[in-house]
Amino acid sequence: MGNKYLCSRRNFFSRVAYLVTGAAVMERFTGSLFASQSAPVNRPLIVTSKTNLYVTEPLLSAAWKTLEEGGSPLDAAEKAVNISEIDPRDPSVGYGGLPNEEGVLQLDASCMDGPSYNAGAVACLENIKTPCSVARLVMERTDHLMLVGSGALRFARMHGFKEENLLTEEARKGWVAWKENISESDYYHPPEPKKVPMESEGTINVLALDAHGDMAGVTSTVGHKFKIPGRVGDSPIIGAGLYVDNDVGAAGSTGHGAESIKICSSFLVVEKMREGMTPQEACEYVCRRIAEKHKGKPMFNVKMVALNKSGEFGQASVRGQIDEKTRKLQGLGYAVYDRQGFRILYGKPILPPMTPEERGKTPPR
Ligand code: ASP
Repeated sequence: MGNKYLCSRRNFFSRVAYLVTGAAVMERFTGSLFASQSAPVNRPLIVTSKTNLYVTEPLLSAAWKTLEEGGSPLDAAEKAVNISEIDPRDPSVGYGGLPNEEGVLQLDASCMDGPSYNAGAVACLENIKTPCSVARLVMERTDHLMLVGSGALRFARMHGFKEENLLTEEARKGWVAWKENISESDYYHPPEPKKVPMESEGTINVLALDAHGDMAGVTSTVGHKFKIPGRVGDSPIIGAGLYVDNDVGAAGSTGHGAESIKICSSFLVVEKMREGMTPQEACEYVCRRIAEKHKGKPMFNVKMVALNKSGEFGQASVRGQIDEKTRKLQGLGYAVYDRQGFRILYGKPILPPMTPEERGKTPPR
């Protein structure tokens, strides 16, 4: 009987060979060994696409504190995104965001948890200030991945979320200014001097990596301002607005949602990291692919942010844009919080920026 447990020399070597081959297969499969060997470990780490100063630092500090207190990366990312969602000053996320063409806010959000490889999402959710928390409950308390519209609202109500009016006075005025300026030949007249519709540059992705190498991500948005009711962008689409693979890394996208969905942007960034690219290289690769698909003349931006398991991070944009009012360059920043503290960084644009005249024009087909 004891023989059964005795390892002969031959047996021993075949077991070692088996383990080595197994590790090699796993490495190819997950990329995790590659990622952790290629760079010094920088953990914990939080990365966000958001750079509006009034909210970015507090939200990343809150996420950092959550990790310090033993919270999971998902707790940290959710905490950070909630701060942005309930802040009325941000016209692109949650409460105070710009509405759809009928003046109604329809919110999209998603979350993905690395350790459990689970995800949740809501789309076109009305009247709830913190859609990413509803997305988390879809993940944790149902067998589904995404709930939309009235079903998502009923689910949120069932879990005790309060229905609230999300349209602030400022956003309502921005919507009215937009409606009055669309056409010279309709029945609406803008006041003199004309009021210019509010600008918004949008969506928040937060990616969090803890000290053990576990990751999670959360994305939340109002979508495109003045969109057609019922429109769903990339933010709640797992693989587009967000993707996390706990063996490799995490990525999120903002900007022109349709393009991000078509190329499965976040999934592709993570897969490129699995093949050995750094987060920066992988973000650039995906943005370049998008630019090429539009013959080098896309009239929109897509911005990718990413981190990997060892705590490297990166960001790239297809092309930023020059703000109409301030003439400043937009769409290229991102922010990180790690052991060195908080900082705003600038990623790499693949193409020169769009002028206000170019922005939103139909891309060449
Ligand atoms: N990606 C968002 C969407 O398409 C919008 C944005 O990030 O500006 O819904």
